[in-house]
Amino acid sequence: MAPTQSSGIDSVVIVGAGPSGLLLALCLADLDPRPEITILDAADTLNTAPRATHYGTPAIQLFRKVGILPEIRRDGYIPWNVCWRKLDGTRLAGLDWTANHEEGLEGDFITVYAVGKMCGLLERELKSRANISIRWGSRVTAIKSGLGAEDQVATVQVEENGETKEYSADYVVGTDGGNSTVRQLVFGKRNFPGFSWEEQIVATNTEIDLDQFGWEDSNFIIHPEHFYMAARIEPHPEPKKNVWRISYGEVPGLSNEELMERLPMKFEKFLPGNPKPDEYRVLNKSPYRVHQRCVDSMRVNRVLLAADAAHLCNPFGGMGLTGGIADIAGLFQCLEGMYKGEADQEILTTWSDVQRQKYRDIINPISTGNIRRLFDQDPEKVMEQDEFLITLKKAETDPELTKQLLNSGNDLNYDYSQHFRKRQNGGAVL
Ligand SMILES: Cc1cc2nc3c(=O)[nH]c(=O)nc-3n(C[C@H](O)[C@H](O)[C@H](O)COP(=O)(O)OP(=O)(O)OC[C@H]3O[C@@H](n4cnc5c(N)ncnc54)[C@H](O)[C@@H]3O)c2cc1C
Repeated sequence: MAPTQSSGIDSVVIVGAGPSGLLLALCLADLDPRPEITILDAADTLNTAPRATHYGTPAIQLFRKVGILPEIRRDGYIPWNVCWRKLDGTRLAGLDWTANHEEGLEGDFITVYAVGKMCGLLERELKSRANISIRWGSRVTAIKSGLGAEDQVATVQVEENGETKEYSADYVVGTDGGNSTVRQLVFGKRNFPGFSWEEQIVATNTEIDLDQFGWEDSNFIIHPEHFYMAARIEPHPEPKKNVWRISYGEVPGLSNEELMERLPMKFEKFLPGNPKPDEYRVLNKSPYRVHQRCVDSMRVNRVLLAADAAHLCNPFGGMGLTGGIADIAGLFQCLEGMYKGEADQEILTTWSDVQRQKYRDIINPISTGNIRRLFDQDPEKVMEQDEFLITLKKAETDPELTKQLLNSGNDLNYDYSQHFRKRQNGGAVL
């Protein structure tokens, strides 16, 4: 691949074929003239671990833009409700999402669709594009150029099928997840500001009948020891499939084997009806450490970091990938602006500053509040102390307030075109 300076972007190397890397590739795929996009991934195939399922407004808007929203809405579902409960199942407060359904399938509202399915859909879309190549089994090990202000090209070294190779492009984008090698090569192994939660999380996809207990589409259970979330992840209402994402907190310091051994005991303790293992089927399970961290910069000259590679949050409330997709939407707008000659490279520094600020002001505080709400307060006192739940309770009898809460998803968006050079009467860029 021979990068040139003509349009500023003839080629991009994306490190990581997770949802954010694949989505960025699909955004860039149809620019005209077509840039050459190479996606490098250390794994042999797509990751199928139980991770993101719920996507907020910025993600829905980008899915629509790249043409995959109809399939996501057809195979996923739009939830009807969410609530917070005590361990005995008592409903404390919730939000009714029925109003979303009145708008039909076109609105920007939350949609549920397993991230593994989404990656499959993205990979299929990308396979039909001649200018995109996905190289599985291609592990980035070094950055050879692109970090210096004078560098005209970004180059990564990879280990691929036992060989050492190099890939160069105008930009390298690290979307290689929470343990990002690109981030470690740029900032050092341990330099990822923020903290890790003591509490461990176990995420499962479980077939179980929670409808018999009148459970809503998403249920957050507040308890110092047995806090958890149970959310329906298969289409609803008909045909009703009883597959739920059950993610729960565990005590610190246990090995993965110990966590898995304890799963039946935990389910019996906290799920309604205290089920025995023959009353449910765990389809998929994985333990996670969870973190609140963000890099000091998402751009170092020609090397960029986005999504989990750049910032992490705990999964309660579904802000991780939604925030990552907001990065991708913004980055695409900036790269497209550069492509059309309406912006220069400095727009990428603005992108880094704005996306980090969104993390600092929105993603970090809200996601931190979401997990603390579950384990860090007395369930008997939350309806007197927790402002968020008190607001939800008010919304239950106030349709206007409900509407406001449903429409708050745009806060992660930012329009970078306000920094672009203006075109005169649709002609030359000023
Ligand atoms: C239990 C759980 C539930 C969640 N639920 C939600 C939710 O409902 N909504 C939401 O918005 N978010 C949610 N999240 C967060 C979300 O899953 C992540 O934000 C998202 O998967 C990150 O995607 P990514 O593309 O940035 O990285 P990843 O999906 O981690 O992809 C990174 C890719 O990079 C590759 N890679 C790594 N190192 C290298 C290397 N050196 N060279 C080449 N390739 C490399 C990996 O093989 C991988 O394919 C959840 C997370 C968890 C753990």
